[in-house]
Amino acid sequence: MSDLPALDRLTCVLCPVGCELEVRRDATGELEIHGNQCDKGVPFAIEEVLHPKRNLATSVPVRGTPAKMASVRLSGPVPREFVFPILAEIAKLRPEAPVRRGQVLIADVLGTGVDVIATRTVG
Ligand code: SF4
Repeated sequence: MSDLPALDRLTCVLCPVGCELEVRRDATGELEIHGNQCDKGVPFAIEEVLHPKRNLATSVPVRGTPAKMASVRLSGPVPREFVFPILAEIAKLRPEAPVRRGQVLIADVLGTGVDVIATRTVG
């Protein structure tokens, strides 16, 4: 293991084991991953450090219903810096009832290639 300070410490979420991973750079600048109990932890940690992505879930009010909300999520993860701009786009949504589970409410949100979809049928 490198003597250089850890760049990051994170928990692998790919399986219930939840390995505590430590990311360091070796003397040549290559990333070293420690603490993983299987090979999946290495690309997971590298992506988390270099290109972190997140999914998100929230809810939006549905017009034409008595204060009902439709839960929504993204069809896939997006770069972390898009999370708050996408939440701002979702906050503008007021879909008309009925909203069907799986309905695309915003296609290709902010050009990410990811859709905002309803996860609950309302109305
Ligand atoms: S490194 Fe492997 S064993 Fe550890 S949490 Fe990730 S997927 Fe599971």
